[in-house]
Amino acid sequence: MELLVKGAATLGLALGDREVRLFENYYEALVGWNRMVNLTAITERDEVQTRHFVDSLSAILAVPANVVTSAHMADVGSGAGFPGVPLAIVFPESRVTLIESTAKKTAFLSHLKELLGLANLTVLTGRAEELAHLPELRERFDIVLSRAVAELAALAELTLPFCRIGGTSVVHKRPDVAGELARARQAIETLGGHLDRVLDVDLEVMKEKGALVVLDKIIATPDRFPRRPGMPVKRPL
Ligand code: SAM
Repeated sequence: MELLVKGAATLGLALGDREVRLFENYYEALVGWNRMVNLTAITERDEVQTRHFVDSLSAILAVPANVVTSAHMADVGSGAGFPGVPLAIVFPESRVTLIESTAKKTAFLSHLKELLGLANLTVLTGRAEELAHLPELRERFDIVLSRAVAELAALAELTLPFCRIGGTSVVHKRPDVAGELARARQAIETLGGHLDRVLDVDLEVMKEKGALVVLDKIIATPDRFPRRPGMPVKRPL
């Protein structure tokens, strides 16, 4: 896991034996399950370390490490656990809720929770559009994360309702995010958010650059959002 350790160090994270062992087990489980369940197209060891593990951890560039340490986080559309699981491994005092609509993927995530012994992880099967209306999940999270799920305008509707007022939504994107941002401006405002900043992510171990879109939650999301499943993507605000 040399690339992971090196990449994490550039993010200011010193990984010890515990973390390296857990990421090692994560890698083995991911590749093993991927033969039965379509979890990821990236299975090569170096690439998983950089494009999945380090990329997930890069979310901490958007939020101070001392906030992440004890934060209550949600990962919307978690898939095989990115970015939520790497953060749960590195920040054992945080609490991370993975939200994923595909039951086969949450079966993997539940297996992973047991395998890695991650008591700080919660796995929920369901659509963000529905789960965000549950009182125990609505506006409950300090940080809401999402990577590779939808266009920013739709993602604002899928993430901001989970975010507490004063919390932050951090969305992993490609660097060419300007067009998406322009299309998402209205949605972000309608949902109670405010564009804080876009951070360039350019790490030595990564072949490709990335970007983090950071949204602040400034006022409550109106009750009618998110709309019914599929609407945020089909007809973005
Ligand atoms: N975030 C992971 C990553 O970066 O590797 C997975 C990305 S994958 C392309 C998108 C995932 O989001 C899929 O597993 C899909 O089932 C899930 N998803 C899409 N829309 C969703 C929704 N409305 N609610 C919950 N999960 C959703």
